[in-house]
Amino acid sequence: METTDTVRKLFDGVVPERASEIESIVNYYDAQFRLIGDREGFNLDAGGFSAIQYTSRSTRQMWLFGYAGRQALHCYASLIVLFKSRGDTLDINEISRIPDQAAEDETFKSILGSVKDLSTAFHEDDFEWPVGIPEPEKGRPSDAERAAIYDLTCMATAFVFLHELKHIIFSAEGNSPEDPKDEEYCCDEFAKDMMISRINQYATSSGYPEEKVRMKRMMGIALASAFILFATGKGRLAGSETHPPIHGRWSATVKDVNLSDDDWFWLYFSSFALALLKYYSIAIQPKVVNNYKSLCLDLISDLENGI
Ligand SMILES: [Zn+2]
Repeated sequence: METTDTVRKLFDGVVPERASEIESIVNYYDAQFRLIGDREGFNLDAGGFSAIQYTSRSTRQMWLFGYAGRQALHCYASLIVLFKSRGDTLDINEISRIPDQAAEDETFKSILGSVKDLSTAFHEDDFEWPVGIPEPEKGRPSDAERAAIYDLTCMATAFVFLHELKHIIFSAEGNSPEDPKDEEYCCDEFAKDMMISRINQYATSSGYPEEKVRMKRMMGIALASAFILFATGKGRLAGSETHPPIHGRWSATVKDVNLSDDDWFWLYFSSFALALLKYYSIAIQPKVVNNYKSLCLDLISDLENGI
């Protein structure tokens, strides 16, 4: 079996400036991205024989999760903007008392419920697709908001595939870090570097402003990071023998991001973090929103302290 065209097209679309480089790496290590038969759970990982295996239901879980990201923005983005402009303290308990907020939170919860249902269904076809969320087979939606979610989901999926590709490289080279937790950080760093470090080339050839491309790519990585938290489950957020804590991975991901402190990337990640922390009943300390970046970093600290 060979690398699927879908994955090739994914890299072409998400990181066009590095698609041929990725292809060379894949060929050099004889790596393959294989679509495997349906099975329960989230299955997208590096297996034996340099193969990165994935199921259709796993990429569909990420697709649904992209809509959880949109809902997180609906729940919190405008409130965060308001708190920042007023200089008021953001207090999650007060937010919860705002009319209609419970309904917004409930919608977020129900999308996450759908992701879980898809993961645990006996067969992928047993899952009833939620009303109001377009199906992935229909391609990139025409309206701007859904098209943006499509792009972010593609970016998040590419990030996860690139992370797994680095595991394949470590295994082939026989130079994996001694501590498997360090390997996870290195794989995240590899994926992020692939998606970020040559954006200037893409900006030059495409004419898109470099900062806007960086913002969007980082939002895609934030979506992947949020998904990793969700897929890990509350009981394992603090990490394990083989996996670092999620707050550690989030901190590493947002380190050295060349975007302004009030870039939308930070607003997106903050909104997602707020929604997820609330979903998992992790304590969110009242805080002044000096800028979106400081809020994001404060929420990562809440995640660290609250698990
Ligand atoms: Zn990994």
